[in-house]
Amino acid sequence: MDLLRVGILNTFVIHTRKMHLLRNQAHVNGAWVKAKSNAMFPVLNPADDKVIAEVPDMDAADAKQAVDVAACAFQSWRQTTAKERSRILRRWFDLCEQNADKIAEIMTAESGKPLSESKAEITYGNSFLEWFADSARHINGEIIQSPWPNKQILLNRQPIGVVSVITPWNFPFAMITRKVGALLAAGCTCVIKPAEDTPLTALAAVDLAAQACVPNGVINVVTTSRKNAISVGKVLCEDPHIACISFTGSTQVGKLLYGQAAKGIKRVALELGGNAPFIVFPSADIEHAVDHAMLAKFRNSGQACVGVNRFLIHEGVYQEFVNCFKNRIQQKCILGPGMRKEVTNGPLINDAQVKKVTGLVDKAVSKGAKVLIGGKVDTQLGSKFYQPTLITDVQPEMEIFHEEIFGPVAVCYKIKSESEAVSLANDTRGGLSAYVFTKELGQAFRMSKNLEFGMVAINDGILSAAEPAFGGIKESGIGREGSLHGALEYTDIKYTLMSGLDK
Ligand code: NAP
Repeated sequence: MDLLRVGILNTFVIHTRKMHLLRNQAHVNGAWVKAKSNAMFPVLNPADDKVIAEVPDMDAADAKQAVDVAACAFQSWRQTTAKERSRILRRWFDLCEQNADKIAEIMTAESGKPLSESKAEITYGNSFLEWFADSARHINGEIIQSPWPNKQILLNRQPIGVVSVITPWNFPFAMITRKVGALLAAGCTCVIKPAEDTPLTALAAVDLAAQACVPNGVINVVTTSRKNAISVGKVLCEDPHIACISFTGSTQVGKLLYGQAAKGIKRVALELGGNAPFIVFPSADIEHAVDHAMLAKFRNSGQACVGVNRFLIHEGVYQEFVNCFKNRIQQKCILGPGMRKEVTNGPLINDAQVKKVTGLVDKAVSKGAKVLIGGKVDTQLGSKFYQPTLITDVQPEMEIFHEEIFGPVAVCYKIKSESEAVSLANDTRGGLSAYVFTKELGQAFRMSKNLEFGMVAINDGILSAAEPAFGGIKESGIGREGSLHGALEYTDIKYTLMSGLDK
C-alpha cells in the first residue's frame, strides 16, 4: 500500500466509468469530510487491482470527533417517537430500493462479487431496513404484577446510546443495514467503520440515509486503512461515549474488541466466524441437497460466515452426492470478473485471502486429500481468481477441516452414523450455522436439538432473513441480529417503581 501511496497511485487512471453514489469522503455530522491529516487510501477492484477511488484514511482523532458528534446527536434522536424513526427508516428503505442497481455496481467493483449477487445482497440487506421500520413501533416495555398493593412496577426499553459499528468486506451493505436499521429503530446513534476493502458501499448507503432525512450526526462513517484500524478501533471500543460495540468479522478480531470493550463494561454484539457442517443422511433427496450445497458453499465464492466448511456425507449416499456435486460445479460455476453477466464466481477479496485458501488446500493435498476439480488460482484471469474446488479424502485432523476456509473450496468427509455426524459437527469452537438434509422427521428434530450451533437449517442451504434471529454460540458470537431481538440488543431495561399510589 505504501508503494501505491508514494508513486504508482498518481499514475493510475481511475478506470471505473462514472458510478452514481460513488462518494470519496467520509461522513460526519451530515457533512462529507476529509481526514484531519488529509491522508487518503485507494480502494481497489479485486478483479484487476485498479483503483476505483481514494477515500480518507482517518485516524483516532477523526474517530474521536465522530463519536462526540454521535453522542451529541443521541440527545435529540433519543427523544424522537418510534413513529418518526419508523418513517425515516422506511424512506431510507425506499431510496435503497430505487438505487439498488447503483449500489450494486459499486459493491461489485470493490468486493468482486458477481453483479447478480450484489443485487441479491441489496435486496437482502434492505429487507432489514424495511423490517426495522416496522419493528421500531413494537419495542415495548412491560408492566409487572406488583408484590405491593400501593406500588406499580414499570419496565421500559430505552436506547442504549452511541453504538460503534465495525463491519467486514464480505457483505458490505447488509452487515451495515442489519445493525444500523436495528439501532436507529431503538433510538441510538452510531459511528460506522467499514472494512478497508469496501468503504464505498457503506458511503453510498449512508448518502441515501442522509437523503432520507436521517438527522445530521445520527449515522457517521469513519473510513480507515488497515494501518489505522487498530487505533480507530480502540477509540470505538474505549471512548466513554460509546455504549455498545456491534462488530461483524473474524473471531480473532472479535476477541480483541471484546477485551477492549471489557475495560469500560461496554455492551457487545458480536457476529463472528463460523465452521458450518453440511450433513447429508441416506433419506435425503440428493439432487435437492446438491442444489443447496451449491448455494451454501459457492455464494460469494465461499466468503460467507454461514458458508459451509465441511460436508459430512453418510456412506450410503456418499458417492452419489460427490458425483452429483462435481457435475453441478462443472456445469454451473463460471469464474471471472463480477461485472460480466454470465459470471457466478468472482475473485477472492485480496491477496491475504488467496494465500490462506491456497495454503489450506495445498497442506490438505500434501497429507493425502484428493482434488476432484479446481485446486488452484486461475492465473489467466488474474491473481485472485481461485477455482471452484471439490476435495475428498480429507481427515478431521487436517487444518482445512477446522479452519474457516472462506473460499470456494468444498471438502467432503464420509460418515457412518448420526452420532458420528453430531460429534464431528460439534467438535469446533465455531457455532454459527449448520445444515442437515434428511427426510426422517425424528432425525430432523434430534439434529436440531443436538447440534451446538446458533442456527440449524433442515433441508435448506440458505437461512438468513430479516425475520428470524441471526447469530452464533461459542466463539461465533454474542447476541442476535434481525427479528425483534436485533433491535432489543440496542436497548437497556429501565425499571421504574411508582410508589405511593394509595395516597
Ligand atoms: P476482520 O479482519 O475481523 O475485519 C472485520 C472488520 O474489523 C474490518 O472493518 C476490519 O478493518 C476491522 N478490524 C480489524 N482489526 C481491527 C481492530 N484491531 N480494531 C478495530 N477494527 C478492526 O474480518 P474480515 O476479514 O473483514 O471478514 C471476514 C470474517 O467475518 C470471517 O471470519 C467471517 O466469518 C466473519 N463474518 C461473520 C458474519 C456473521 O454474521 N457472523 C458475517 C460476515 C462475516 P480492516 O478491513 O481495515 O482490517
